[in-house]
Amino acid sequence: TTKTRFAPSPTGFLHVGGARTALYSWLQARANNGEFVLRIEDTDIERSTQAACDAILEGMNWLGLTWDEGPYYQTKRFDRYNEIIAQMLEKGTAYKCYCSRERIDVLRETQAANGEAQKYDGCCRDLPARDTDEPFVVRFKNPIGGSVVFDDHVRGRIEFSNDALDDLIIARTDGVPTYNFCVVVDDWDMGITCVVRGEDHINNTPRQINILKALGAPIPEYAHVSMILGDDGAKLSKRHGAVSVMQYRDDGYLPEALLNYLVRLGWSHGDQEIFSLEEMKQYFKLGDINKAASAFNTDKLVWLNQHYIKSLAPEYVATHLQWHMDDQKIDLSNGPALAEVVTALAERAKTLKELAASSRYFYEDFAEFDEAQAKKHLRGVALEPLQLVQQKLTALTEWTAEAIHQAIEDTATELDVGMGKVGMPLRVAVTGAGQSPGLDITLFLIGRSRSEQRISKAIE
Ligand code: GLU
Repeated sequence: TTKTRFAPSPTGFLHVGGARTALYSWLQARANNGEFVLRIEDTDIERSTQAACDAILEGMNWLGLTWDEGPYYQTKRFDRYNEIIAQMLEKGTAYKCYCSRERIDVLRETQAANGEAQKYDGCCRDLPARDTDEPFVVRFKNPIGGSVVFDDHVRGRIEFSNDALDDLIIARTDGVPTYNFCVVVDDWDMGITCVVRGEDHINNTPRQINILKALGAPIPEYAHVSMILGDDGAKLSKRHGAVSVMQYRDDGYLPEALLNYLVRLGWSHGDQEIFSLEEMKQYFKLGDINKAASAFNTDKLVWLNQHYIKSLAPEYVATHLQWHMDDQKIDLSNGPALAEVVTALAERAKTLKELAASSRYFYEDFAEFDEAQAKKHLRGVALEPLQLVQQKLTALTEWTAEAIHQAIEDTATELDVGMGKVGMPLRVAVTGAGQSPGLDITLFLIGRSRSEQRISKAIE
């Protein structure tokens, strides 16, 4: 069965590039009834932090990219790596290299001066075993001659000549196993059948394949995914805007929107743009990932976000809106149910952050009017329409959107003015500003006593 993994290095938050790789890897597992492993590659102790681990797990959880195994931590697996290194030394697929730093430096300089590729010359490769306490590194005995070939799902057939590959260091002088080696042991032990990762790892692949072969391990399939670029064609980075998945949560995006955006950023299925998770699982194929780098386009993400705010169940959108209400310190204890607010405001909101901000007046009295709107609709203008609609609203026997609508319409008819002459002062009076959803639903959600108080206050 298919088994894939996502293997982030915890040196920072989960960024959108990593999230897209994770999504593709996750989909490859889910589309094939397989399993998905989360592995934290924290062997770089200097750069790895617990905060980054937590941030990555938080991002994966928020996106809903569930894992079946893990998270595994490489730092907890050193005994296993050392066990394999000992076996390789025993079998002669790896060797101890006693070359000093100085010797390696001189070798590099000479090779550079001669215009040769800089690689270890194999000086210690065939030394007989020594009984010494001199420091050493352990090197993998890379095959000599021939080449490594693999069929990448995204990039097609890729071939590396073995002569271009070094005898890779698999354990440093301090005994710590190196990155490429840990990946190999992990992919083998964890039974990974398909490796989906960034194209920056392509050069590691032939080395990893050679080590897997030396271990007698099966070779997984590979898919190397291209970079994400900013709108200026440079590699996506902070200066292009938000790059952290959780920043998108903070900015008011739904996970459904970000996932849909990311799946299409570099993958396509005909010209379909909107994909539910079910559809992604149904249609996803690694072979349909684009080889070319993709450019991040925030407008499209906004468009998708609006789509999902409008089309997902309001009760569900409300669970995400809740976070923003808390974040903006809006106390929900006195006001309408959040799902009703979603229904009322979904059409106009680009993000949940905006939606939260524009729903404040449902829960709290506003401190002051929008000055320009108040000048235009409340001060220095005749207040008859507002006064008459106030009377009619006060007289209502029931506080429903329909009844409120009728009161506004009757006021306009009676005074023979347009609906706007009644509606705008009323809107400014109850919301403090010039924009809101339909007044009937707005007043209904604000509630009777609050609406009446605000109107009286505006007329004072
Ligand atoms: N830890 C690597 C990274 O974060 C990924 C390695 C892999 O997927 O093989 O770039």
